[in-house]
Amino acid sequence: MARDIKQLHPRLQTKVEELKALCAKEGLAIGIGECFRSVAEQDALYAQGRTTAGNIVTNAKGSSYSSQHQWGIAVDFFKNVKGHEYDDAAFFSRVGALAKSIGLGWGGDWTGFVDRPHLYLPDWGSTASKLKEQYGTFENFKKTWTQSSETPKQEAAQPSTYTGNSIVEYLNSVGKPSDFASRTQYAAQYGISNYKGTAEQNLKLLALMRGDSSAPETQPTAPAPKPTKSLEDWAEEVRAGKHGTGHENRKASLKKAGCTYDYEKVRAKVNELCGVKTSTKPASIYYPKYTGNSYGIDTVFAAIGIPEAFLGKPKNRKSIAEKNGVKNYKGTQDQNLYLIGLAKQGKLKKV
Ligand SMILES: [Zn+2]
Repeated sequence: MARDIKQLHPRLQTKVEELKALCAKEGLAIGIGECFRSVAEQDALYAQGRTTAGNIVTNAKGSSYSSQHQWGIAVDFFKNVKGHEYDDAAFFSRVGALAKSIGLGWGGDWTGFVDRPHLYLPDWGSTASKLKEQYGTFENFKKTWTQSSETPKQEAAQPSTYTGNSIVEYLNSVGKPSDFASRTQYAAQYGISNYKGTAEQNLKLLALMRGDSSAPETQPTAPAPKPTKSLEDWAEEVRAGKHGTGHENRKASLKKAGCTYDYEKVRAKVNELCGVKTSTKPASIYYPKYTGNSYGIDTVFAAIGIPEAFLGKPKNRKSIAEKNGVKNYKGTQDQNLYLIGLAKQGKLKKV
């Protein structure tokens, strides 16, 4: 039943109907060919032109699940004129353009193996590898379909594999616009007023858009305080080679970067930090970088090895907060997001 459109992702079914309507308007006789392909069907197709007769039509083996058709997100079309199904280049170009105008991907744009009859949902890129990585099997992927067909088209849940803390990267990963104007609009939708694109606002927006339950529901009362760099921070930078070599270079570079500490003091601190190094390993002043995607403060803290005594209640976390420049720590979501942001950069200082 490879031609059964009902086996396709619901959103693709809708798109195909839209495309047919557009083609009808222009008098383009579009026919719908291959839709969903089973492993056996894909294997048979792979054999064509290799171990069986005919031309090579695919580079994807069935068992590899590397054809988008095996994930129900692709459909092939042809010109519905007997004897001329595939010989009208202009027809394929025009239908490809119409398909792209409604948000579909077109195999005619591929380089290498150009597949002009092929259309697909581009949410997961132009190959099936992201789907394989994310869902493993078609069955797992299919479980997400009902959900996405029930939500409005625009809000369809588009899974993201991005786990970092850049709102721009995140938006790109789910195929949404990430320019400032768009982010301002999202911010307003999610209840963040007066969006200016600050780090705190971006982290919060990211958490909300990811649907994290730990994301703040109300507006912040005050922005999280920005810590100024400590003597240790500057010394760490010098150690990391950020300010070049040689005292004069370092002195000038530090001053330029806004360091107000006396250079000799920074130097002494560097020596002190290097002194620690001689024992065994350099003792980092930071907790290890958090690489997960939780926005729950205790989850994050536990993940980077902060002892249990610091978890649970805000007062237990206070010393860590203060060490990291958060004054008057009360465990507000704003303050927590700020600390989580530091942890995600590997810049949360140890107490
Ligand atoms: Zn195809």
